[in-house]
Amino acid sequence: MMPFASLADVEALDRADPIASFRDRFALPAGVIYLDGNSLGPLPLATLAAQADAVANQWGSGLIRSWNDAGWIDAPLRIGAKLAPLIGAGADEVVVTDSTSVNLFKAVVAAAGLDPRPGALLTEAGNFPTDLYIARGAVAALPHMRLDIAAPGEILSAIGADTRVVLLTHVHYKTGHRHDMAAITRAAHAVGAVIIWDISHSAGAVAIDLNGCDVDLAVGCGYKYLNGGPGAPSFLFAARRLQPRLRSPLAGWFGHVDPFAFTDDFVAAPGIARFQCGTPPMLSLLALETGIDVFVQADTAALFAKSAALFDVFADLVAARCPALELVTACDPAARGSHISFAHPSGYAIVQALIARGVIGDFRAPDVLRFGLTPLYLGFADVWRAVDQLADVLDHEHWRDPRFSLRSRVT
Ligand SMILES: *Cc1c(COP(=O)(O)O)cnc(C)c1O
Repeated sequence: MMPFASLADVEALDRADPIASFRDRFALPAGVIYLDGNSLGPLPLATLAAQADAVANQWGSGLIRSWNDAGWIDAPLRIGAKLAPLIGAGADEVVVTDSTSVNLFKAVVAAAGLDPRPGALLTEAGNFPTDLYIARGAVAALPHMRLDIAAPGEILSAIGADTRVVLLTHVHYKTGHRHDMAAITRAAHAVGAVIIWDISHSAGAVAIDLNGCDVDLAVGCGYKYLNGGPGAPSFLFAARRLQPRLRSPLAGWFGHVDPFAFTDDFVAAPGIARFQCGTPPMLSLLALETGIDVFVQADTAALFAKSAALFDVFADLVAARCPALELVTACDPAARGSHISFAHPSGYAIVQALIARGVIGDFRAPDVLRFGLTPLYLGFADVWRAVDQLADVLDHEHWRDPRFSLRSRVT
């Protein structure tokens, strides 16, 4: 028998949900079930007012004075400090700056600079593309380093005596697989390697304890679970114990100890501030701040428990109603993030057919349908309705309509 035979069954779960009211803080369009918050988080209502203030008052009236009067100059560290508890970091260990790709480059080169001996940067095949591309580019610029790429699942055995830096993504963007952060960090440290975790698909999605796992460096994305808006700045974490020895390869004037001294020589700012490069994109930064402000008000234990429960309901319903879909993501909550992925040879067309019905998920080549289960604003009834549509699309093969096979640039 089906675990949740009707909508009423899951509505009871919504009534018992302690964080259900957070949904009202988002501008979710009517008629849409948004299952792509792992790729671009929705608009927090508070961001509308905060952006209007930032544009009309801080920029419009305050002009250049706002760097001091509105606290613009402090924003990268202030917002980093707000984010820190969510990822198990100290308030002085996180800065919000640049894109994830740029922060990856800075982190890799700074990590490689800690040990002058020749050796390897180790990463994983199938990692998020930008992580692989940036790793390649960084190694090309570092004569003492080579790039090792381990097969997925073989990271532990690939860590060797001359591994200097390990770069991994905690939750895999496609499969949703979650690495054991503590165990891999220990293994890297056992050979004297520095570990860099990309937590783009984990921050705000699952419990993370960077310091509890003794992580060295981490980077992550602001526009996914943190709801910072399209292209929101990224964050960079560096453990306090390493900060004095880390040199950013993109040492711009905002990473200087005293940018407004305008000296010819670069002297790195003490602490995490040295990872800033140039003038921050203030409007985007402030949009990320309001996204994080919503997040930090939610009980994180409830948040992560709900994420796991949404997954279980989604997986059970799909197993019962959509036998053509093959579950890709692990069932063990400790081995996955907060999205659920399925494989189907016509995945692209199925996702397009769903989007036409207002159920927005996404597709990752070659065959993965991906649904973000973001507990802050999704309910169990949303999951039920989404799977109901999915079953209908599959049962009647609505996805075969040729318009659903037209590829856009962004999938
Ligand atoms: C989303 C994501 C990125 C994004 O990088 P950008 O520089 O913001 O485009 C990087 N790495 C991972 C693992 C991601 O999931």
